[in-house]
Amino acid sequence: MNHKRHIKAVIIVLLIVSILSSCNFISVKDNNIHPPEEDEHIELNVEDKEEQIEQEPPRSLNISVVGDIMLHGPQIRSAKQSDGSYDFKPVFSEVKSYLEGSDLTLANFETTISTPEKGYSGYPMFKTPESILEALKYAGFDVLTTANNHCLDNFIFGLENTLNKFDEYGFLHTGTSRSPEEQDKVLIVDKNGIKVAILAYTYGANGMEGSVDQSKLQYMVNFIDEEKISNDIQKAKAEGADVIIACMHWGVEYVRQPNDEQKALADKLFADGVDIIFGSHPHVIQPMERRRITTNEGKEKDGFIIYSLGNFVSNQRDRYQDSGVIINLEVIKDGDNISIGKIGYTPTWVRKYTDNGNIKYEILPVAKFMDGQLKGNENERIKSVWNETTGLIGIEDFEPVK
Ligand SMILES: [Zn+2]
Repeated sequence: MNHKRHIKAVIIVLLIVSILSSCNFISVKDNNIHPPEEDEHIELNVEDKEEQIEQEPPRSLNISVVGDIMLHGPQIRSAKQSDGSYDFKPVFSEVKSYLEGSDLTLANFETTISTPEKGYSGYPMFKTPESILEALKYAGFDVLTTANNHCLDNFIFGLENTLNKFDEYGFLHTGTSRSPEEQDKVLIVDKNGIKVAILAYTYGANGMEGSVDQSKLQYMVNFIDEEKISNDIQKAKAEGADVIIACMHWGVEYVRQPNDEQKALADKLFADGVDIIFGSHPHVIQPMERRRITTNEGKEKDGFIIYSLGNFVSNQRDRYQDSGVIINLEVIKDGDNISIGKIGYTPTWVRKYTDNGNIKYEILPVAKFMDGQLKGNENERIKSVWNETTGLIGIEDFEPVK
């Protein structure tokens, strides 16, 4: 009896242990699948989603922009390879990461694309090998504006060939046109659910206007003409643009402040409905401002202007002309309301140096190269560029990228 009792007791103990451990096992496993916090989280998410569907979440779009892309004779010779081809990619490799991540990256393309037969040259008649477009693709550019004083440097051929090559390489473009129909069409980019209209105008074309039949010139180059600009703004609005960017080739060369003409035109463009103005041509940086605008229609909204973005790349070596800036700007759409969010800027400097007897160019993000990594007096120059650029733009209203 004692023996049987003992066996019974052992069996009961074993059973209890087994039940307890299996309970524990189930409960641990269960916990792993549905921890209480996760249950709550999932429910919250579902509620969030339902709310979002009703209200539409705010959308945002990051825009990057740089100033003049110019290619002088020494830059073309520097890019020439031993097999006769041209490679401009190394010029952009240090700034690529500041450009390629944006939803929309713009530049002023201040030259024309030529062919081996027509030849290549720098100032005053800019004619550039088409491989520059490979480099600009590699750097992350999406939109190239062509309304500038060098667009007719290689006559009608240059203007048309440039646009043909842009199409071939997949760049969006505005500012010059191959037909009246092309000029009539406003460039609207629809990204992240935000429609951005991009307009571009130039003060002139270095007297090359005379080389083109007047009837053609009217549609080939977007000149600054207040009536035309107003019409284009209305067209952009009618086509549902949420944001209107005007790229203005204007101002006085080498002057670091906007003149009265730029200021008056900026006020007019904002009143007409432009949200953002990117200026170029002075070859030096001019200041930027956030604004609160009241349009002619009585609507209040955000505005942003940089009067001049400076040279992004060129062979101009004088103080201020060797410097540029990358602007990064966030556009937010919340329902029907458009606002301008964060605005940051990256000061850039064009480094020209000799490597194994060859002249090289590279665009450097200034902050990354201020710790003495460069050669001799380059270290002093790049520090001065930081002070010159941040001194002009300021560090309180806008954030310089370090
Ligand atoms: Zn210019």
